[in-house]
Amino acid sequence: GNESRLQAIHQITNRQATPVDQPEPLSKIWATDVFNLAKMEECLSKNAFKSIKKTVQTGAPLDPATAEVVAAAMKEWAMGKGAKFFSHIFYPMTNASAEKHDGFIVTNSEGNAITEFCGSLLIKGEPDGSSFPNGSIRMTNAARGYTAWDPTSPAYIMQTENGATLTIPSVFMSWTGEALDKKIPLLRSNAAMNKAAQKVLKLMGESEIAPLNSSCGAEQEYFLVDANFANARPDLLLAGRTLFGAPSAKGQQFDDHYFGAIPQRVQIFMQDFEEQLYRLGIPAKTHHNEVAPGQFEIAPYFEAANVAADHQQLLMTVLKNSAKKHGFLCLLHEKPFAGINGSGKHVNWSVGNATQGNLLDPGDTPHDNLNFLLFCGAVVRGVHLHGPLLRAAIATASNDHRLGANEAPPAIMSVYLGDQLEKLFMDIKEGNLSVTEAGGEMDLGLSQILNFKRDPGDRNRTSPFAFTGNRFEFRAVGSAQSVSGPLVVMNTMLADSLEWVAGKLEAELASGSDQATAVLAVLKDLINEHGNAVFGGDGYSSDWHNAAVDERGLKNIPTTADALPALREASVKQLFSSTGVLSPVELESRFEVYSEQYVLAIELEANLVVEMAKSIIYPAAISYLSELAAANVSMAEMSIDLDSSIAKTVAAETNAMMAAVAKLSAALEQHDFASTEEHMQFLAKDVRALMDEVREHADTLEAEVSDELWPLPKYREMLFIK
Ligand code: ADP
Ligand code: MG
Repeated sequence: GNESRLQAIHQITNRQATPVDQPEPLSKIWATDVFNLAKMEECLSKNAFKSIKKTVQTGAPLDPATAEVVAAAMKEWAMGKGAKFFSHIFYPMTNASAEKHDGFIVTNSEGNAITEFCGSLLIKGEPDGSSFPNGSIRMTNAARGYTAWDPTSPAYIMQTENGATLTIPSVFMSWTGEALDKKIPLLRSNAAMNKAAQKVLKLMGESEIAPLNSSCGAEQEYFLVDANFANARPDLLLAGRTLFGAPSAKGQQFDDHYFGAIPQRVQIFMQDFEEQLYRLGIPAKTHHNEVAPGQFEIAPYFEAANVAADHQQLLMTVLKNSAKKHGFLCLLHEKPFAGINGSGKHVNWSVGNATQGNLLDPGDTPHDNLNFLLFCGAVVRGVHLHGPLLRAAIATASNDHRLGANEAPPAIMSVYLGDQLEKLFMDIKEGNLSVTEAGGEMDLGLSQILNFKRDPGDRNRTSPFAFTGNRFEFRAVGSAQSVSGPLVVMNTMLADSLEWVAGKLEAELASGSDQATAVLAVLKDLINEHGNAVFGGDGYSSDWHNAAVDERGLKNIPTTADALPALREASVKQLFSSTGVLSPVELESRFEVYSEQYVLAIELEANLVVEMAKSIIYPAAISYLSELAAANVSMAEMSIDLDSSIAKTVAAETNAMMAAVAKLSAALEQHDFASTEEHMQFLAKDVRALMDEVREHADTLEAEVSDELWPLPKYREMLFIK
């Protein structure tokens, strides 16, 4: 029956609000739980502070003596805030965060408790990481991974119900030094980008060039569902999305959620959640409702990519924990509800330094404009050459539901530049721009460059990769994903393109061209070869889907099964080896881990579909049929003829559903695949199709079977009752 649904609605109707304190002023709580440079300065000697500051700001190696004093100061600070444990947090190749907890307290030989946390424990932890996916990297070696502190990302106190824990952001590697995580490649990709960017800027005549870093600001979409409903939905609990569910008569068609006020209960949750972010030094900037009912967004201010990536992981953890505290389940899944907009993560990305500023900002002078055009052109080249790799970087079983679904960017990688910039590049390609002497200063002879608007309002929401005035926005990233993978690909393809630009530019300059002429020549070549990736039209349209493939030679890569094999392409191996970001072994291990994640995700869902169809939906349908049958018999006794069309439909749909379940079960028994690629294709095509078939019949049943007998919370309830 529907007792669990009624019970859930009753609980929600009568719930007491979770009390929260009055909001504290930001100045009082900002970064109070972070051991940042300001705190180090307070408690370290001048020399020790200078040394650690250099490490933090430039990534210079940390000397053991400094590590010792920093460890002591960090421990003191953490224990002062009530921490009894410390943990190295690291980011394995799955999208999760992982931690190994240790106590500060150990007992000495006399059995007394002492606190022990020395420099070497800070710098290097030794978790038994054997249960973390590693591809085949560690199979033949010791099954141990090591964590090492990343001092460029500050340590912090994580407050949970179990108390406070000093948490130390770390890298995770094998004993042979291979990257087993998502942080090491990100740090390496930054270094590769910096190296190539330095070359280009030097050729552009810059005398002082500070180290370049990439920046990231990630907008995070999510759904909130009341925990009472979620607990009655095994699919939401185990798979993070509804595997069944008929559409609600009211969905998102009125846009009333997007423009409406944030529900009070959600406002209270947001205040609490954001206060925790502030304490952790995460610059939460905006929050608002999203398109779908029950959907929201949080966008922190951008930061250095490495810190932003750690903060993004932390934000997801705090988001889920806070939601729980306020009686919600937070869904980060890309498509929790069929027929309702899904969630993504927009990764805003730029590169810059202290001397030249943001290189993706057009700037105010012709010279700044030239730097900008080179960097921007380099990005275009990267997207064109490595579109399939960008697609692979966002490939997950869950994101496949969203990409190309006419609410999210298509699975074709193209770049949107805005009308003005697109025209500028096309003019360069056509040779319509020439260098003239104006006012004694070289400029491009066209005021259009000087007048370049920083923030064109004509944003194209249908592009997966858009220039938005001073940064690129990668919009096809999945909401549950770590931002590291996409950032690694963007930095690495930019590094590779800047190397190419540097080579070309050097040759042009060597042949006697002046700087502006040389830049235009390089860009002309670049757009000739790679301009096909530039697209300003409607990315959702079927015209584009055809033209992109037939006329532009771009790839439409609909599923993860189609996307991941890109990691095995020679060009991708070459890209990662030449930039030093991933060795062939490290790259192959990523293919293996991501493929395995895909297989596991689909198998889990498929098994759950079978189980729920058999044990929840079939019994509901049968109960209804016996009610109808009983009524029919009683009616017949009274010589009343009862229309039997509903009974016939329910019986037919039930049989059809069970037939599809049998096919799905049989498909899940299949294990003899020639390769991982073949296995993934089978899941993407056959298994996913059978899951959909089961669902179709089940959802028809939901609309036919008596509401009193339907056990699963319905879409209209989960989306609208708060
Ligand atoms: P939208 O209009 O796409 O919703 P928002 O302004 O809300 O954009 O957020 C965009 C995100 O981009 C924020 O996280 C913001 O800090 C970030 N951002 C802004 N400038 C840059 C930049 N130069 N580099 C990287 N990220 C940036
Ligand atoms: Mg955005």
